[in-house]
Amino acid sequence: MSLSTTIETPAGKYEQPLGLFINNEWVKGAEGKTFETINPSNEKVITSVHEATEKDVDIAVKAARAAFEGVWHTVTPSERGRKLTKLADLFEQHIETLASIESLDNGKSLTMAKVDVTNAAGCLRYYGGWADKIHGQTIDTNPETLSYTRHEPIGVCGQIIPWNFPLLMWSWKIGPAVASGNTVVMKTAEQTPLSALYACKLIVEAGFPPGVINMLSGFGRTAGAALSSHMDIDKIAFTGSTMVGRSIMQAAAKSNLKKVTLELGGKSPNIVFDDADIDNAISWANFGIFFNHGQCCCAGSRLLVQEGIYDKFVARFKERAAANKLGDPFAADTFQGPQVSQLQFDRIMEYINHGKNEGATVALGGDRHGKEGYFIQPTVFTDVTHDMKIAQEEIFGPVITVQKFKDEADAIKIGNSTSYGLAAAVHTKNVNTAIRVSNALKAGTVWINSYNLISYQAPFGGFKTSGLGRELGSYALENYTQVKTVHYRLGDALFG
Ligand code: NAD
Repeated sequence: MSLSTTIETPAGKYEQPLGLFINNEWVKGAEGKTFETINPSNEKVITSVHEATEKDVDIAVKAARAAFEGVWHTVTPSERGRKLTKLADLFEQHIETLASIESLDNGKSLTMAKVDVTNAAGCLRYYGGWADKIHGQTIDTNPETLSYTRHEPIGVCGQIIPWNFPLLMWSWKIGPAVASGNTVVMKTAEQTPLSALYACKLIVEAGFPPGVINMLSGFGRTAGAALSSHMDIDKIAFTGSTMVGRSIMQAAAKSNLKKVTLELGGKSPNIVFDDADIDNAISWANFGIFFNHGQCCCAGSRLLVQEGIYDKFVARFKERAAANKLGDPFAADTFQGPQVSQLQFDRIMEYINHGKNEGATVALGGDRHGKEGYFIQPTVFTDVTHDMKIAQEEIFGPVITVQKFKDEADAIKIGNSTSYGLAAAVHTKNVNTAIRVSNALKAGTVWINSYNLISYQAPFGGFKTSGLGRELGSYALENYTQVKTVHYRLGDALFG
């Protein structure tokens, strides 16, 4: 199979790289394997890409190690920043192509894909700005000693990303790693390998030396597992399911105790008090769960509504959700596209059936949409109790459970009643309620009178089983640097 092909999307033709990207070159996998990537809107094969296995991980790690010890070491922090800024500019110049690849491979609407590309560029530029502002401190220990700290890069970073925001996750991981002087071997999700490969063309154009950023298409149990257990990877960053997150931590512990950061699942409560602005709360609740077809780690998948407004709120929320336009991601008015794969479609339908069998009421949807593609109707469950599986486990689809609560204490209790702690939201006009409840919620992010507003300038990550460490903002840099303390004894008086 060749190393590139021409692909036609409704937005135009482009040249798609298909190889593994190692040392700034496109290569075939060592075992000669390839795998198909599917268009989730029509279930047809888009193309095949070359597959990385353990041997390729090894080759890529050697390239990243050589770059880290060699050329990347000689590039000044300001120059690292310039390259990231250039990459951000290139993302913006190629927005039409990058977004159309994302819509084709992932199924998200072109409008939303463009927002992803814009935010990915913003994130890369933001970390480009940080590159020459990462430094330690001088510490006044005693008059005979000069003590100072250096914030040094960790080394070779393995990064494993999911399929729900392919380019955005690419930028969240590459930005801080590269800004702080590390080199990277990234494995993309097997469902959505295409946009990351196209972005590697831009890495070359931005002037990154060979080996600094290496990109592997491949599967979790082979290439992903090889990354997390590799003895020459110094740090692994993962976004995906809590189950795989646990296995990554185990592999890190059993190999070289590489540093680990995990951004995992969620079952986030979206809490609406009686005094909330109802129109706004409905709009945010709809966006909170149905944005990206429910495939967000921080999706507001549990709607908790206070009893005084419950009936009115649920009736209007159903109307709002029913009005969401499903269909072709390339159509201008599409809000919700297909789920990413047959497997995800099946998993979600299984949860919906489980909810029905557990005794919850399907107030809206509950079935597939259309005849082809992995489309699922926006689904609203009422009569839900918090011990039900649909109220406890991450569904990762356009499915929301609605529960009624009495008062603030009740809302906090139900809100904190899952093993997850990624995000939450509070809707109220009372500032005291907003602050008290947001303080009491065990979640890494709390939105007040909004939902899903994420900025690359502010940290993002989970409490409890939702993760370890923080991405974004200056906080992410702490996960990509290690602190060295140097004590320089002044003068030459004889010790002792
Ligand atoms: P997953 O966790 O299996 O996959 C995410 C990434 O991890 C992919 O790149 C995959 O190849 C890789 N991976 C899988 N097994 C691995 C292993 N043993 N070692 C190393 N890497 C491995 O997720 P999935 O199967 O695609 O989806 C399952 C569920 O995960 C979803 O329903 C959802 O609940 C959750 N999920 C969460 C996120 C998130 O943003 N937090 C993203 C995707 C999926």
